This record gives sequence, structure tokens and C-alpha cells, in this order.
Amino acid sequence: MGYTVAIVGRPNVGKSTLFNRLIEQRKAIVDDESGVTRDRQYGMAEWAGKTFNVVDTGGFVHNSDDIFEKEIRKQVKIAIDEADAIIFMVDVAVGITDLDDAMANLLRVSKKPVFLAVNKVDNSQRALEATEFYSLGFDEIYTLSSISGTGTGELLDAVVANIPDELETESKETKHIPKLAIIGQPNVGKSSLLNALLGQERTIVSNVAGTTRDTIHTHYNLFNKECILIDTAGIRKKNTEKDDLEFYSVIRAINAMDEADVCLLLIDAQNGMNAQDVALFSLATRKGKGIVVVVNKWDLMEKNTNTARDYEKKLKEKMAPFTDVPILFISALEKTRLLKVLDTGIEVFENKQQKISTSKLNDVMLKAVEAYHAPVVRGRAVKIKYVTQLPTVVPSFAFFTNFPDDIKMPYKNYLENQLRKHFNFRGVPIRIFFRKK
Ligand code: GDP
Ligand code: GDP
Repeated sequence: MGYTVAIVGRPNVGKSTLFNRLIEQRKAIVDDESGVTRDRQYGMAEWAGKTFNVVDTGGFVHNSDDIFEKEIRKQVKIAIDEADAIIFMVDVAVGITDLDDAMANLLRVSKKPVFLAVNKVDNSQRALEATEFYSLGFDEIYTLSSISGTGTGELLDAVVANIPDELETESKETKHIPKLAIIGQPNVGKSSLLNALLGQERTIVSNVAGTTRDTIHTHYNLFNKECILIDTAGIRKKNTEKDDLEFYSVIRAINAMDEADVCLLLIDAQNGMNAQDVALFSLATRKGKGIVVVVNKWDLMEKNTNTARDYEKKLKEKMAPFTDVPILFISALEKTRLLKVLDTGIEVFENKQQKISTSKLNDVMLKAVEAYHAPVVRGRAVKIKYVTQLPTVVPSFAFFTNFPDDIKMPYKNYLENQLRKHFNFRGVPIRIFFRKK
């Protein structure tokens, strides 16, 4: 079960700076559709051995507060509903604004843990000024400088103290039925696919406020295929504005992902793979989940002989560097190739579960090493002596070598490609480590 932390706060306080620091990778998703909103960002953070999801509620380009007050208040409400904990960020250089006050009022009454982060505390003068924020009425303030990283450790210590220890249940289950999550943006056809597979309309009654973060697990056992389908609880679309809908669906998708072995990532054929789809794809990859890309509404495309092939090529450019992923073209409406979706999902699950014997692995991989050696570094030959698969949920391989630190990315990529060439890891992220021998 995943744990999700939302960062909320006025524009310009430094939310995305903190976000980037937490996920430790530059991930500037540029929204090219409009100049007004910035895409919400989400990723995965790790601190003190615990992992959690982080959502930067993003929002609105720097402009006068009052225009966007209503919007921001709405985002705070969603964050309270959907996240497990909230980092409420304010800016010491600006001091307390009316909007900070308004947000604090909403957050103080929430039952979720709220961490007040006073940002831009770059020096000791500002550390003194930060005490004014005690007047917002939270027990504790966390002063930090997102730019330099000072103080973020204390904040994270406090945040992860609330996260329960992971239970290692994986290996104890005798028979593990594949768990497939149907994820994707609003309107790509997730419920249509599910209903078509189940052969019935499932009426989903849900309430936007309150206990809606659940995912729904359906045991599917038809046509000789057995799996658990995980989908995200329906959101009452009528009363939910487009932007909010997107926010809800992102958090739901992350929750579903955390519970699944394999993600069936639906995209809308007519829209192609946009920045949000790419973000879901890379998040699933980082989480080590199996992935099948499912292009839905294929019935709406004008097709000639090369359409699917060209389309696939474009998708792979977006997915790079992880392109060893099955891509399916379906129509939930016309019910074409739907069972193929399950077949492929189950196949990816099996690829992910496989354990390759050390002897077979060495047979194949030492030949590959022989065919193309790791580059010599500082006049020293880098030798790979043997390789073994580690007993991990995400397929991982340890290569034992005399100089682990001297093996660089290109050679690592070569080894990954060789593993993929000789064994079937289609749809499965794999990890490679070098260890001293
Ligand atoms: P957001 O709108 O809340 O996501 O804010 P951004 O992360 O985009 O940051 C807004 C501005 O504040 C940028 O110019 C950042 O470089 C700056 N900023 C962020 N964190 C700090 C900090 O700790 N100290 C200082 N001095 N500036 C910061
Ligand atoms: P969700 O929000 O991802 O669950 O999407 P829905 O299943 O509610 O579908 C959104 C809209 O797309 C509905 O109007 C569906 O009828 C339509 N739709 C779903 N799948 C297909 C498809 O394969 N082809 C076409 N033409 N429309 C589809």
C-alpha cells in the first residue's frame, strides 16, 4: 500500500523546487497546452528506507493571489481528501499572506497530518523571521531552504515517522494471482474496458468527499485467465471540474499502481501519449511495475497498412529509454482485442516473476561480456566474473567485477539489452548492480 504526501501552498513559495529535491531527478514537465496552469507533478521519494509518493499540487502561474484564491482553496481540499499527509509550504521572504491564512484554516481542521514548511530560510536572519509562522496555529514549524537542501532532512524525518513499515508479504503467498491495474487519464476508456471485460455494467456509487481513495479489486476468472483487476473508484464526473478530475485520477492511478504487479496504461488513440501519460509511464517504471501500453479507441483512427507501426514508433520515442514494452491497439467500444489485454498483462507478470538460474545466466551473459568487454579505465582491465539474479520483486541482477565503480552507463545499457535479448523481460523494468569481487 502506498503512502502519498501532497505539497500545497501559494504560487512561488518553492513547491516545485522542494518536489524536485525530494524525487532527486529533474523532471520538468512543461505544459505546452496553456500558459495559465502548470502541470501537477508526481513522483516517488525515498527517505530513511521508506518510499512514498509525492504530489506537487502545482497550479497556477505566478499572478495576483486573489484571482486564484478559489482555485487554490479547492486544491487544498482535494489534497486533504486524497493524500495521507500534507506539506503546507509558506515563504519566509514574503511573510504570512491572507491566502496562507485561508489555507491554514482549511488544513488545521483536517484529520491528516500537516507539516508546515517555512521555505527560503537561507540564512540565520530568516530563521529568526520564520518564527512568525507559529501564528498560523500548527504545533511545529519546519524551516528549510529548498534550494540548498538545508532543513529538508528534519522535515522528511517527521513525514516518514508516520509511514508504517512495509510488510513483506510477497514471498509468503503460495499462489500469487497476477494483479493488473487499469490506469490512465480521465476519459481514456478505463471503465468501458472494465465493463466490457466483465460483461456487465458495474454501477459505481462514489462520493467525492471522504473515503474515495480506495481502489476496487475484481477477481477475474473467465476464458481460462485468472487475474485481479484493479481499477480506481469512479469519480462523479458531473460535479467535478476538469482540472480536479485530473488531480483525483492521478492520485488514484498512483494508488492502483502501488497495489499492482502490472499496469495496463490506457491512452487515447486520438490524443497520443501526452506529458501526463509519459509521467504515469515513468512512475510505473520507477516503481518497478510491469507495463502494457494499451492504445484505446483505435476504432476512431483512420487506418492504412502502416498506421499501427508508425504509431508504435512514435510511442516508443516517448517511452525511451524503456521501450521493450508491449503495445496493444484496442477498442473497448467495439470490444476488439480485449482478451489480448489480459493475456499480455498476465504474460508480463510471468516475465516479471521468472527466476533465471545462475548457471544459465552465466552461460549467456559471460559470452556477451566476452563479445564486448567493458572499456578499460585508467589502464586497468575491468573484468566481469559472474552474474546472479537477486531474490527481489523487481528483477535485479548483480554483476560481480573487480572494479564496480568503473562501469559506466553505456556498458550497463549493453548488459541490459543483452539480458533482454536472451531472456524475456518484455514489459518489465529490470535493475542492474555491480558488486566487488
Ligand atoms: P512554486 O510555484 O511554489 O512551485 O515555486 P517554485 O519552486 O517554482 O519556486 C519559486 C521561486 O522561488 C523560484 O525562483 C525558486 O528558485 C525560488 N526558491 C525556491 N526555494 C527557495 C529557497 O529555499 N530559497 C530561495 N532564496 N529561493 C527559493
Ligand atoms: P474513463 O474515464 O477512463 O473510465 O473513460 P470511460 O470508459 O468513461 O470512457 C470515456 C468516453 O470514451 C465514453 O464516452 C466512452 O463511450 C468512450 N469510449 C471508451 N472506449 C472507447 C473506444 O474504444 N472507442 C470509442 N470510440 N469510444 C470509446
